[in-house]
Parts: sequence; structure tokens; C-alpha cells
Amino acid sequence: MATWGESVALVPTMGALHAGHMALMDLARQHGRRVIASIFVNPAQFAAHEDLSKYPRPFSADVAKLEAAGVDGLFAPEPATMYPPGFCSGVQVAGPANVGLEDRFRPTHFYGVTTVVAKLFHQVQPTAAVFGEKDFQQLAVLRQMVDDLDFPVKIVNAPTYREADGLALSSRNVFLTPDQRAIAPVLHQTLQDCAKAVRAGETQGLARGRSRIEEAGFLLDYLELRDSRTLGEPGQDATREAGGLRLLVAAKLGTTRLIDNVAV
Ligand code: AMP
Repeated sequence: MATWGESVALVPTMGALHAGHMALMDLARQHGRRVIASIFVNPAQFAAHEDLSKYPRPFSADVAKLEAAGVDGLFAPEPATMYPPGFCSGVQVAGPANVGLEDRFRPTHFYGVTTVVAKLFHQVQPTAAVFGEKDFQQLAVLRQMVDDLDFPVKIVNAPTYREADGLALSSRNVFLTPDQRAIAPVLHQTLQDCAKAVRAGETQGLARGRSRIEEAGFLLDYLELRDSRTLGEPGQDATREAGGLRLLVAAKLGTTRLIDNVAV
């Protein structure tokens, strides 16, 4: 185990830093003597039709934010450094990466995430790494990877940072038109109402939630109730009581895909 003196907390990001990312940097300070941020828009986790080329990359503004927050170091590799010619290895996680949520709509996504995070862990050698609950399935997949493959890294969850109206902060929110931005909080409102309905034992809660999201103008990918730990179907899982339940949603507003989740 590392001593406090040599502990390093890593916060992996794709840049376009917002207050949610900065809250992760603050939390990282509690888990490492040094805080290192990484910025890498990872081509391996985008499918061909996704928004890799238009993903926002305000690099100088990001550096200024990290400096202002007192972050000790930034690792911002080039794609050719991470994936040189001939690169042909990767990390494949099953379990929580194979439950019919993000993986159903982005089948190559988590392979890209686990591969790049494994590389970042080897490159930076952190003792802890902070990830947001906003990407709840990602967090579960990375915990699985670290446990299964014995990475000596403590995974720390950070709560989802939201706008006053409940919309989860995301680098992709800049793509929302003013009309779409006005509709976007329906996602979180619906999650909260659904969570209440589930707690009250209402069987129609999820179906009502799905209709409400679609009627607001979203194209719904999924709204699902899952076991928080395994992300499997609740009820089919002996661990249901241990981990609690989570409601997870993904939906598109125009070309912008939003995800969110809440504890039940
Ligand atoms: P990204 O740059 O979108 O890959 O996100 C980098 C890290 O920030 C991931 O661990 C995300 O889960 C986390 N993150 C993104 N948005 C939020 C948010 N609104 N609240 C908390 N964490 C977030």
C-alpha cells in the first residue's frame, strides 16, 4: 500500500471541463497527496457514427481551469501516443459491461473505455482514481476490471453534479439548442418520479416514465430499473438487497444523447 506521501489520485476526462469534472478534482484531493488530471478524447470508445470529430476540445480553457483548481499535473497524450501503428491489444470486461444498457446501444464503447483506462493506470500509476456516478455503468465496469485484474488502484465514486433544474452537467450539453435545453430537465424529473413510484410499489411507474420522456420529445434508448452493483435485472439477482436499486436512462434530443441515473 502506498503511503500518503506518495499517493496519487487520477481523474481521467475527455476535457471540455465543467463544474462536474472540477468536483471530481476536489474529491480526488481527499484521496491523493497529488492530483493528476488526464484529458484524452479516446477514439476507441466512439463508434464510427458518433461525435468524435465534433467533440468539444477547448484545451487552453481546460488548462486554465485545472491550474485555478490547483491540480498538480495534467497528462494529455496524443492519439498516436496512445494507439501507435500496430496497436492491437485491449481489455474486455463482461458482467456489468454486458447487461443491455449502454452496451446495447454502444456495443464497442466499454472495450474502448477499459482499454484506455488500463493504459492510463499503467502510465500514471495512481493509487486512486475518481469517476462520476453520472456514467454509472462505466463505474461498475471499471470496478469489475480493477477487481478482476488486480489493479492496485482504489476506485472512488463522485456524485452527479447537476444544474439547478436537475440536468446533469455534460460536455455534450453545449450541443443542445435553447428549446432542447428547456426540455432536457424532464429526464431527471422523470427519474425522480419513477424512483418514488418504485419505492411506493407502483407497477406502472416505469411505463409512465417512458411515455413521459417520449412525449417531451426525446427518442428514448432505455429507462430501466437495475441492481446497483451488478446492473442485472432486479429480482433475478440474489444481491438485490445488498446493493440497492438504480434507475438508469439514456435518450436523444435531436442529435445529442443524454444519460442519467438515480438511486432508488
Ligand atoms: P468525460 O469527460 O465525460 O469522459 O467525464 C470524465 C469523468 O467526469 C467521468 O468519470 C464522468 O463520469 C465524470 N462526470 C461527467 N459529468 C459529470 C457530472 N455531471 N457529475 C459528476 N461527474 C461527472
